[in-house]
Formats: sequence, structure tokens, C-alpha cells
Amino acid sequence: MIEIRNVRKVFGPLTVLKGIDLDVNKGELLCLIGASGSGKSTLLQCINGLEPIQGGEIVVDGISVHDPETDINLLRRKLGIVFQQYNAFPHLTALENVALAPRVVARLSRDEASEIARKHLAHVGLGDKADALPSRLSGGQQQRLAIARALAMEPSYMLFDEVTSALDPELVGEVLETMRLLKSEGMTMVVVTHDIDFVRESADRVAFLHQGEVCELGTAEEVIDNPKREQTQRFLRRER
Ligand code: ATP
Ligand code: MG
Repeated sequence: MIEIRNVRKVFGPLTVLKGIDLDVNKGELLCLIGASGSGKSTLLQCINGLEPIQGGEIVVDGISVHDPETDINLLRRKLGIVFQQYNAFPHLTALENVALAPRVVARLSRDEASEIARKHLAHVGLGDKADALPSRLSGGQQQRLAIARALAMEPSYMLFDEVTSALDPELVGEVLETMRLLKSEGMTMVVVTHDIDFVRESADRVAFLHQGEVCELGTAEEVIDNPKREQTQRFLRRER
């Protein structure tokens, strides 16, 4: 479980997270929604320790992320992350991209790493693209490759930051399908998205961030279909 307790994050004079309290339960898909600049990406970066925090605590499976005693690299293996912007190594094949972290970080042999990579490529529907260079893949396939790469470290949690926002509309479905598959297998997921239809269909809970605070939290039925707060209502009117 991920426990986010009174987390405060500043960038210089700007307070971006103003005391965030949020739990992510094992096996749940939690969606983070909110306007541009509300702090969604920053919160994900804090969860996996890419950004320091100035107050509060984030605890993943009992391990405090920002405790200087914590082995952050070990902790990050628990947290797969996929971004909007695809970031594969262009000179490596799909298989080599997925096998890289198992080889270099987990120190598996080339054969073991390749086997794991093949398994995860097949899992995201790219079993036949093992030898392709990323530039030869469609945007949707590239995002599925990014998911496979994160899965290759066998994380307990997957964090997604607007992974479909840069895609042509016809390529969005295959990536969402992959995310639904992971959810059906019990993966715990935090998904930042502007795709309200996906939230309604797939989220166990939704947190609406407004100016660095969790303004509203509940099921999609509560937050999307019957928002209580005026800020949520205004945001959803704009999104539709
Ligand atoms: P979007 O929907 O546009 O992705 P977001 O909710 O993900 O927005 P963040 O990227 O978390 O928002 O940014 C929150 C605020 O923090 C913004 O005002 C942004 O300008 C600021 N910010 C983010 N990263 C940095 C940084 N490295 N240095 C300074 N300010 C930053
Ligand atoms: Mg963002």
C-alpha cells in the first residue's frame, strides 16, 4: 500500500503540494485528475522519490520513500512508471529495451533478461516486435513497449502519467486495453489522466487535485457523476 501523509512540496516560492493525504490500496486503480498545474505529475514524482518533499511522508509497503536511510533504488523497483513522452533507447531493439534494466539493475544474465523481456513484450501484445527498433513502432506500440519495460522489473505498483495524451486518437484504445489487462490481473495502479471515460470505466477511486490539494476523493460515481465540490463541477464542465 502507498500512504501519502500531509505531503508538502515547493519549487522555490511556489507551493505545489499543500498537504496531500491519500492512500493507494493494494490492487486498486486510483485515478488522479485535475487541471494543468494542479500537481499531478509532481505527486507521482514524489511517490517514486524522483522529487524531494518539504513536509509529510510517503510510505510504500512500510518503507518511507524520503528517509535518507532508505535504499531508493531498491524502492524504485517496486514502482514502475510510464510517462506521456516515450523514452526508449532508439538504437536498441524492443527486446533489448525491455531487457536492459533486468540485466543492468537486477544483474540477470543476458539469456534470463531476454526471457523476461520476451514474456513482457508478449504480455502487452508486442510478441512479434521483439527485433524492431522503437522508431519502427507506432505511438501506441511505443507506449506499450514503455509499459513492458516498466513491468520487466516486476514492480508492485505502476504509475502512469498521461500515457495516452500524445497519441493519435486511434492509438489510444490499445494502450488503455493494456492498462485494463494489468488491472484485471490485480496490479495496483495510480493513473494520471484527462480521459474521463477511462476514469468512469476503470477507476476504483478518483482523486481530484485542485491547486495542490485533494479537493474531492471517492468512486467515479461520486466524483465524476455526482461531484459535491464546486471546483470539481467546474473542472468537469471544462473537460467535457
Ligand atoms: P499537467 O496536467 O499540465 O501535466 P500537473 O498537474 O501534472 O499539470 P505539475 O507538472 O505537477 O502539474 O506542476 C505543478 C506546478 O509545479 C506547476 O505550476 C509547475 O509549473 C510547477 N513545477 C513542476 N515541476 C517544476 C520544476 N521542476 N521546477 C519548478 N516548478 C515546477
Ligand atoms: Mg503533468
